[in-house]
Amino acid sequence: MTPSPSTVAVIGAGPAGLMAAERLAQAGLRVVLHERMPSVARKFLMAGRGGLNLTHSEPPAPFLNRYDAAAQGRIRDWLDALSPADLIEWVEGLGQPTFVGSSGRVFPKAMKTSPLLRAWLARLEELGVEIRTRSRWTGWQGEALTFDTPEGERIERPDAVILALGGASWAKLGSDAAWVPALEGAGAEVADFRPANVGFDVSWSPLFRERFAGTPLKGIALTHGDRTVRGEAMIAAYGIEGGGVYALSAGLREAVERDGSTMLTLDLRPDLDIEALTQRLSKPRGKDSLSNWLRKAARLDSTAVALLREGGPLSADPAQLAARIKGLALTLTDVQGLSRAISSAGGVALDAVDERLMLKARPGVFAAGEMLDWEAPTGGYLLQASFASGVVAAEGVRAWLDGR
Ligand SMILES: Cc1cc2nc3c(=O)[nH]c(=O)nc-3n(C[C@H](O)[C@H](O)[C@H](O)COP(=O)(O)OP(=O)(O)OC[C@H]3O[C@@H](n4cnc5c(N)ncnc54)[C@H](O)[C@@H]3O)c2cc1C
Repeated sequence: MTPSPSTVAVIGAGPAGLMAAERLAQAGLRVVLHERMPSVARKFLMAGRGGLNLTHSEPPAPFLNRYDAAAQGRIRDWLDALSPADLIEWVEGLGQPTFVGSSGRVFPKAMKTSPLLRAWLARLEELGVEIRTRSRWTGWQGEALTFDTPEGERIERPDAVILALGGASWAKLGSDAAWVPALEGAGAEVADFRPANVGFDVSWSPLFRERFAGTPLKGIALTHGDRTVRGEAMIAAYGIEGGGVYALSAGLREAVERDGSTMLTLDLRPDLDIEALTQRLSKPRGKDSLSNWLRKAARLDSTAVALLREGGPLSADPAQLAARIKGLALTLTDVQGLSRAISSAGGVALDAVDERLMLKARPGVFAAGEMLDWEAPTGGYLLQASFASGVVAAEGVRAWLDGR
C-alpha cells in the first residue's frame, strides 16, 4: 500500500500563500489553504487597480538594493529561488503576457489581477488544492491548529504549516495582523508593524488643498537627507503621497517618528541645472503675470507654480526663484496610518526563522510573504519578494517532511 501524502496547511491566500500552495501540490502533497475572508487574494486584486506592477526589470544588484539592508542577505536567497525572470515566465505560463514599462517596471498586458488570478485558481483546483474561505486561524492548542469558521471552531493536525498571513496595511482586505499574539506566545519575535509606502501630512493652505488635492507632480526629484530619487508625487488633501515619496518613505517615517517632523526637498525641474534655469528666468517678463511667466519660462504646470507660492511670496530675482524651484522644502509633520499604507514594515523577525523560513521556536511551521520583517518601495519589489518567499517556504516544508 502506498502511504497517503502528507497534509500541509497553508494559511493566508495572498500571493505568498497561493504560490506556496502551488509548489507543494506540484510536489504531490495534500494542501489545504485557509483564508479568513470570504474570497481569496483581496490585496492582490487591489494591487491590480494600479496596473499590477509584478516585478522590475533592473539587474540583480540594484534590484536587491531596493530592500532594507538588514533583509538583503535573506532576500538574495529568495530571489535565487524565484528570480524576476522566473516570475515573468510563471505569469506568462498562466496565459498572461507581460511588458516592461518605461520606468523598467513589469506589468501584465491586461494591467489587472483578475485574469491572472482566475487562471491561477484553475491551476490550483486541477492540482487538487482545497481552498477553505472564512477559515480564520486563531492559534494553537498544543500541537494542533485552531480555526474560527462559520460552523464553529475547527481543530486541524496537518503534518506541516505555512503561515502567509500578510502584513498590517489595508486591514479591511484581510491582513489584520491579529495573529501577532499567537506567534509571540509561541516564542517568535515579532517587530512592531509600521506603515511603509505611505503618504505624509503637510499643512497646506485651505485654498491650495481645495484646488490641487489629487493632482500629480510629474518628473520631479525628491531629496531626503542624502537620498535623492526621481519620480512623481501626488498632492493629497492631507499632504503628499505617490511613488517618489514611497521610495523615500522608510527614512522619512523614521525621521518623523524620531524628530516630530522632517524636511522633504523637491526639485521641480531636475533636468535643468540652476544656472540654466536662472538664465531662463532672467528673460523679460513682459505683460505676463508671474504665474504665467513661470509656466512658460520654467515650463512648470499650474500645480508646481501653486506649490512654489505655498512656500511664501515669490521673489522676482531670477537666481532666488531658480533656487526655490530646484529646492522647494516641504515640512512633513506626520505619517499616514497603516490603514492607508501600501505595505508595512515589521513582522516576524528574520532571526526567528531559519534559512528555509521555518520558525525556530516551532518546528514544522514556516512563514512567508509580507508577514516577515522586510520592506521595499513600490516598483514590483513587494510582490516579487512575497511570491519568492512562498517558493522558499514550500521547498523548506518539502525538505523538512523528507527529513522526518
Ligand atoms: C493598494 C495596494 C496596491 C499595491 N500594489 C502593488 C504593486 O503594484 N506591486 C507590488 O509589488 N505590490 C503591491 N502591493 C503590495 C502587495 O499587494 C503585498 O505586498 C502582497 O499582497 C503581500 O502578499 P502576502 O501574500 O504576503 O500577503 P497578503 O496579500 O496580505 O495575503 C495575506 C492573506 O492572509 C489572510 N489572513 C490573514 N490573517 C489570517 C488568519 N488568521 N487566518 C486565515 N487567513 C488570514 C488575509 O486575509 C490575506 O488574504 C500593493 C498593496 C496595496 C494595498
